[in-house]
Amino acid sequence: MALELDSTLLEILACPICHSNLSVDYDAKELVCNSVSCGLAYPIRGGIPVMLVEEARDTRLPPRRS
Ligand SMILES: [Zn+2]
Repeated sequence: MALELDSTLLEILACPICHSNLSVDYDAKELVCNSVSCGLAYPIRGGIPVMLVEEARDTRLPPRRS
């Protein structure tokens, strides 16, 4: 099932760190900060973006091996 996010929600959401706009990465189910210098990605769980710094992933770092 495709991930759906309210476009209005996306408009009001901003990165809590740098207040930049966010882009949706539908494959990774993340909201990615548009700021190159920030580069944090926030997980989307059950269609709800988790805008917590503790939950955010730094996309500038190489992906972790699991
Ligand atoms: Zn940011």
